[in-house]
Amino acid sequence: GPGEVTVRQSAAGLNFIDTYHRTGLYPVKFPFTPGQEGAGAVQEVGEGVTHLKPGDKVAYLGSGTYTTHFTGPADRMILLPDEILPQDAAAVLLKGLTAWALLFEIRPLQAGEIILVWAPVGGVGSLLVPWAASLGARVIAVTSTEAKAEKAKALGASDVIVGYEGVAAKVKELTGGRGVDVAYDSVGKISAQESLSSLRPRGWFVTYGNASGPVDPIPPGRLTQGGSLIMTRPSLFNFIPDADSLARGAGLLFSALKSGTIHADIGQRFPLSEAAKAHEAIESGTTTGATVLVP
Ligand code: NDP
Repeated sequence: GPGEVTVRQSAAGLNFIDTYHRTGLYPVKFPFTPGQEGAGAVQEVGEGVTHLKPGDKVAYLGSGTYTTHFTGPADRMILLPDEILPQDAAAVLLKGLTAWALLFEIRPLQAGEIILVWAPVGGVGSLLVPWAASLGARVIAVTSTEAKAEKAKALGASDVIVGYEGVAAKVKELTGGRGVDVAYDSVGKISAQESLSSLRPRGWFVTYGNASGPVDPIPPGRLTQGGSLIMTRPSLFNFIPDADSLARGAGLLFSALKSGTIHADIGQRFPLSEAAKAHEAIESGTTTGATVLVP
């Protein structure tokens, strides 16, 4: 249609949110096609589209990308620099923009600050950890296995806690009793209280995901008890409401990829026809880096 572009997709990125749409944790309207991000080559452009042409490589966020072709508004398509392959872009656009919003938009991270990062080698985590470390933050990571702990260290974590028990006590020990400035928590149900108890007074609890289930209600008094804590539950889509904010985030993300600060780490590739297996893999907690579906 007018103002639209059809893309032949090289890949669709898999995100945890796709599993929430499937299970109904986040309700959707039917008919529904899953998938929130993708990338590929422009095949056709609609009337009035002047800045894109067939053959251009683009990436985008949009609903319904578990497909061979995706049609969406041209002004939400991001033209890829030559250095960034479409499959890599499909792997990191949503997760990398999330890391950007966490580090730069919600509360700009400062050099010398100490942060706690859960799921440090997952889709978002594997971008968040090196990016935060490059800004001069000290990263304390929490993960489930020794193998993942090694990977977290290689990504730039200075300390890694293995296992989800007693995290706050270990954080206090590692920080000489002070606590961290920010806890970036994507695990949710089983981690929220440990995150809150890991913070210094006036620290920030950034609860941005539910990999273990949604967070139980937290009364305001719990924030007072921790020392005037600040809690936020961000959603990426509120940080990219228009083409300008999207371009700003994507610009910083692509610069970080080009400079080698962060890498598109595709840990798993599945044919699109095996999307169900890809969901089982991410829900089992065994994946590392990003997962893509290839049509
Ligand atoms: P990940 O690749 O991080 O996978 C989830 C990881 O969470 C696992 O690998 C595991 O890491 C950890 N985990 C802990 N407990 C469980 C459990 N019970 N089941 C499964 N995993 C568990 O996923 P993503 O990077 O794609 O997403 C992470 C979270 O961030 C999701 O909840 C997602 O919805 C959210 N998110 C939120 C956004 C927003 O805008 N707010 C945007 C993007 C993602 P480990 O073994 O290291 O503990």
